[in-house]
Parts: sequence; C-alpha cells; structure tokens
Amino acid sequence: MKVYKIVEWDMGHRIPNHKSQCKNVHGHRYRAEICLEGSLINKSNESSEDMVMDFGEIKTILQEEIINICDHSFMYWEKDQVMASFFKTNPLLKNLSVPFIPTAERIAYWIYKKLAAKFKDNFGTGLKLSEVTIWETPTSKASYAK
Ligand SMILES: [Zn+2]
Repeated sequence: MKVYKIVEWDMGHRIPNHKSQCKNVHGHRYRAEICLEGSLINKSNESSEDMVMDFGEIKTILQEEIINICDHSFMYWEKDQVMASFFKTNPLLKNLSVPFIPTAERIAYWIYKKLAAKFKDNFGTGLKLSEVTIWETPTSKASYAK
C-alpha cells in the first residue's frame, strides 16, 4: 500500500551557470509529494490501526524537515560566490546554503535523503520512504526513488 502527502512552500533560488533566465535571482512555489510504502498497521486499538502511517504524523515530519527550513528562504549552492557574499553581508535574511546546484532534481534527492531516515518501520509493516517528487512549476517536476 502507498500513501502520499503533499506540502508546499515558497523559496528563492538561482542556477548560477544557467545559459538563460534561471541564473537570475527568483523564486517558486515549490510542491513536494512524498510517497510512503508499507503494509497496514495491524495492531488492535492502536491510533493508526489500518493505516500505513497517520497523515498527521507525516505532516509533522514534513513541517520540521522541509517547511521550517525552506519556507521563505533562499537556497543557494555553497560555491555560488554571488549569493554567498550577499548573505554574508545580510546574515539576518533567511537562507540555506547547500552543497549542490538547487535544481528540482537535486532538491528532490536532498529531501529524499533527509526523509529516508525519518520514516521508520515502528510496527513491522516494512514502512519506508518510496518516492519524493518536487514540482518547481505546475508543469515541471522531478522525482527520486531508490
Ligand atoms: Zn527556478
């Protein structure tokens, strides 16, 4: 069985070596779809009986691991000297330096790696993170699945 949870946030980025518009400082309404896979929890009188995982508990993890860190922030590649120097002189502005060019593909992989350790099998159901999809625009998305 698979369950899906979607969260959205606003975040700036730029692709420093891009040949066209993406090198400019801009933002997106990012959307992440998280897919979890496992069998149903088969434990009588358990709050999450017959669920893969309680949607509320999934939401709490996504809030802590994605939204609190990324929302209204600016994600930039640590080797992007333009942005690194800007945030060095404006340290009060929320920013997120990452060791990769912040493409949708790399953000999907980064979130997958962050979340894989957070979704653990607590009830012997084989629960695991199955796939992370990142929409950068309503018509462009990237997915990572192990
Ligand atoms: Zn962009």
